[in-house]
Amino acid sequence: MFHESVTVIPSVGEKTAEQLKMLNITKVGDLLFHFPFRYDFFEVKPLSEIEHEEIATIQGEVISDCHVQFYGRKKSRMTCTIQVGVVAVKAVFFNQHFLKDKLTRGAIVTLTGKWDMHRLQITVQKWQLGEAENEKIQPIYHTRGSLTSTTIKKLISYALKAALDEIEELLPKHYLHNYKLPHRQMAIKEMHQPSSKFMLKHAKRRFIFEELFIFQLKMQWIRHKNRKHQPGLAKQFDEKILLDFQSNLPFQLTNSQQKVLEDILFDLKSPYRMNRLLQGDVGSGKTIVAAIALYANTLSGHQGALMVPTEILAEQHEKSLKQLFSNHLRVELLTSSVKGKKRNELLQDLEAGKIDILVGTHALIQNDTIFKNLGLIIIDEQHRFGVEQRKSLRDKGLNPDVLFMTATPIPRTLSITMLGDMDVSTIDEMPEGRQPVKTYWVKESIIDRVYRFIEKEVDNGHQAYIICPLIEESEKLDIQNAVDVYHQLQQELPEHIQIGLMHGRLSSQEKDEVMRQFANNEIQVLVSTTVVEVGVNVPNATVMVIYDAERFGLAQLHQLRGRVGRGDAQSYCILLADPKSETGKERMQVMTETNDGFTLSEHDLKIRGPGDFFGKKQSGLPEFKVANIIEDYRALEVARKDAVEVMKNNLLFKDPEYARLRQLIENDPIIQERVFD
Ligand code: ADP
Ligand code: MG
Repeated sequence: MFHESVTVIPSVGEKTAEQLKMLNITKVGDLLFHFPFRYDFFEVKPLSEIEHEEIATIQGEVISDCHVQFYGRKKSRMTCTIQVGVVAVKAVFFNQHFLKDKLTRGAIVTLTGKWDMHRLQITVQKWQLGEAENEKIQPIYHTRGSLTSTTIKKLISYALKAALDEIEELLPKHYLHNYKLPHRQMAIKEMHQPSSKFMLKHAKRRFIFEELFIFQLKMQWIRHKNRKHQPGLAKQFDEKILLDFQSNLPFQLTNSQQKVLEDILFDLKSPYRMNRLLQGDVGSGKTIVAAIALYANTLSGHQGALMVPTEILAEQHEKSLKQLFSNHLRVELLTSSVKGKKRNELLQDLEAGKIDILVGTHALIQNDTIFKNLGLIIIDEQHRFGVEQRKSLRDKGLNPDVLFMTATPIPRTLSITMLGDMDVSTIDEMPEGRQPVKTYWVKESIIDRVYRFIEKEVDNGHQAYIICPLIEESEKLDIQNAVDVYHQLQQELPEHIQIGLMHGRLSSQEKDEVMRQFANNEIQVLVSTTVVEVGVNVPNATVMVIYDAERFGLAQLHQLRGRVGRGDAQSYCILLADPKSETGKERMQVMTETNDGFTLSEHDLKIRGPGDFFGKKQSGLPEFKVANIIEDYRALEVARKDAVEVMKNNLLFKDPEYARLRQLIENDPIIQERVFD
């Protein structure tokens, strides 16, 4: 029966079948894995243990007649008195006056609803005649269309009888034994028809492990395959030249920078292709690490590319690389605003191998750019997972080493989940002498004080960013806002302070010019939309003011804040916000309390959930049915360790107990998509 269509179930007609399909249920067996998304526990509690406004279940005897009031067109409110122990409780039912005949004096009832401690009153949501069986657990299912949870429950009950005995164990015995997990058949039954809270807990535990273990096996599989099938070039370069180069820098690399650089150079030298994520908080100094890696790559006789999300950033990187490598290397910029003859010449030189390092936006790997021998590509500030980029590289027939850099630190819990097939290096210390940015959260009503503060900082020789209110989905309004704020500031600040304006509609020449002026302190105050969000580096700026801060995500606020605090002077971030919700307030509070990007992103993740955090499509996150990667992260780590062991000992192929798992993995579409061979 397991593989039969749901239509073999007598009560399932075409319409029901269609609705089931929307829940991804087509076969009888699928029903078994449509687990409840929550459970109602009808556990009768004594009144003294119920808190005010708690949803609780009580039991008692009806001791009055029901009193019904009608109001509106079809609405009704019915009350009656229930004796619970020695207390007379008022039960209130909305729009259920038809119960009147059932709730007769002397009837025993079990009621679930919201308890009002002061009025001794319960607003009933669910009722049952008679005594509730203790610990009766009701599964509640996701539904679609006109399907109800109750219908689904019945269908599942059918499926359990018809197909449960066809379910075979998937996990090798020793996992069940070591982790004390119930057998698969029993666990499925308990998920749908729990015999007790205790058994339900173990059934869930089993599926949490099963899901996470299979997921980690897939990740390890991808990692393993991609290693084996992806021979890269073992690049050779003279490390002494790199050391010389480093010793000529105006600063010493931090230990952390040194360590990640070693990881990267090791990958370049190894005969496998690098697929590494470099994460480091805003301002931790990723750029110089990237530059040295690019240098090593050039020394090995290859071209390198640095890809960034915005033109401003591309221009900035181009400049700093040109400065760093003055006469040694040829660095060029390719963005959509490089056009005509200049562009053609550039592309020709690139193809002829005359350009060592090409800096640019996404166009870099999507357009008709042809490298002579691309050896390394670095993708900066790519907040998201890099599957897409790897795909488009592969589609172009390019197999360079790839390094992703991000300042949106991926919380540990997530990184071990998503990045199973990527190596990760982390810069976890800041360059010496940095003072943490002081963050304040204020209401816009004291904006005058903020103006005076900016004035004071500017008079001390520093500079300020003002980030304008963000209006989602409307670039036009964003710009309008920026223009308004710009005019406002011109009135409020003394004339000797030069104010600049930056937004997405400026041509890249104009942007470039504004940025140049700001970098040279010809402009002291820069009013901007979020186009300066990532990467921009003007160490003399010490003030970051953000309007409507509650509209930004924490990661974004942290990025913006990261534009200051890049030099030796104390810097400040001022959040103008008047959040209405508790979480909104909490978020502003967290911003003032921590400067640590990891803490912030953990927080973001908790509030918004993994889907939102990464953007649903790009995340590559599987939808777990039972497991929750945040709450179950211990299980996730255990599963990962086990998966690593399995791959290391080649158990999927050697041990027949793993055969079923292997089949499952081999046939998974994610595997086909992400194995790059
Ligand atoms: P991010 O990691 O945010 O991209 P950057 O690479 O832009 O950070 O570096 C921020 C600033 O810190 C730059 O001005 C850079 O020159 C400087 N910097 C980088 N490494 C060090 C170091 N080891 N010591 C002092 N300053 C450093
Ligand atoms: Mg950067």
